[in-house]
Amino acid sequence: MKVLVLGGAGYIGAHTAKALAARGDQPIVVDNLSSGRRDFVRWGPLVQADIRDGAALDAAFAAYKPDAVMHFAASIEVSIGEREPLAFWDNNLAGSISVLGAMQRSGCRRIVFSSTCAVYGEPERLPLCERHVRKPINTYGRTKLAVENVLEDAARAGDIEHAALRYFNASGASPDGDIGEEHEPETHLIPNALKAAAGLGGPMQVFGSDYATRDGSCVRDFIHVDDLAAGHLRALDRLAGRGGSFACNLGTGQGVTVMEVLDAVETVVGRPVPRVMSGRRPGDAPELYADTRFARDELGFAPARSNIEQIVEDAWRYHGPRWRSAAAA
Ligand code: UDP
Repeated sequence: MKVLVLGGAGYIGAHTAKALAARGDQPIVVDNLSSGRRDFVRWGPLVQADIRDGAALDAAFAAYKPDAVMHFAASIEVSIGEREPLAFWDNNLAGSISVLGAMQRSGCRRIVFSSTCAVYGEPERLPLCERHVRKPINTYGRTKLAVENVLEDAARAGDIEHAALRYFNASGASPDGDIGEEHEPETHLIPNALKAAAGLGGPMQVFGSDYATRDGSCVRDFIHVDDLAAGHLRALDRLAGRGGSFACNLGTGQGVTVMEVLDAVETVVGRPVPRVMSGRRPGDAPELYADTRFARDELGFAPARSNIEQIVEDAWRYHGPRWRSAAAA
């Protein structure tokens, strides 16, 4: 299949482009490189364009005639969304509507959309199942929910068939160490803990140690980025085969605490993680983990590399060489 990978120079998009190419599909990356990296585009051509540029999308659809779209292009940093909501809505919602318009003009009907467990908001029941009420508590989650709503309307009207994949905590890096997680600023737990263990930038902050969890820290569901990529291929195959539209969690179903992640980092790096205990971070739910039954039963999906030590080991293989030498300098 030829697949237009929007945001394919970013973390999850690049891993999915690699996975598509590895099985013989053809990824064509569309990315404005605002946060994506040129050197992460290695498995097919790059169209450097913004998804809000309808004419540029029309040209890409005309040139490559893709069988499907995978849509990773979005603003994702939660705190920036709170500070600059209009820019977030423009990129995430207006951008996605622009993509759907270009699909309609070109006749391309299949789309796999990067959604998030943030669409659920505060869990009323755990594990979080796809039918859980969607009441996001931040701008980021609300923009993603809005796109899900647009996709559902377009699907009902018969315009598209789509998968909305609700990621839990994407983490890890490609096992061969060639691509990994690069965010600026970096706010995520595992890279921050690895950095602190490497001796870069001082102690990390642990946001909250008084939650009603087994050790007082938050519980999250960490899924290896290669498992996420594999989930995308399953979703694509399901759209190409049976068709229809669906939402699906991509997680492991296993909750891991922040403290357990720090233990894994210490084991893998062989050094302590300097830390300070801080207050709760606004907007953090105490516990989030996925109900994985739909992914398993409907997509035949099971994570293969999402053990927390494996995730940390792969992330460290990617970051370690650079951060060790930066800390030594
Ligand atoms: N966290 C932390 N220190 C950090 C970054 C994150 O204690 O430097 C905690 C955060 O409060 C949350 C968990 O780690 O409970 C995962 O946060 P992350 O930002 O990686 O992902 P999120 O769950 O917010 O998508």
